[in-house]
Amino acid sequence: MPRYEFRCRDCATMGEPATFEVDRPMQASSEPAACPLGHADTVKLLSTVSLGGRSGGGGMPRPAMAPAGGGGGCCGGGCCGGG
Ligand SMILES: [Zn+2]
Repeated sequence: MPRYEFRCRDCATMGEPATFEVDRPMQASSEPAACPLGHADTVKLLSTVSLGGRSGGGGMPRPAMAPAGGGGGCCGGGCCGGG
């Protein structure tokens, strides 16, 4: 379940630790949350959401594609012969 970080304005004005974290489903991410002290004047912080379940593997470097060789020069014809 993703974890969201909130900040309580009431706690901030009182000098209390104003931020707290709430574990909730993503569909409830926009719902208001009361702080641990019961204040309702909270705002959700734009913190990085850490989803659980870290799968192994991955991180494979993508092979670099060599650019296709250009075809055709002008020397096939008569433009390089000078004259
Ligand atoms: Zn509070």
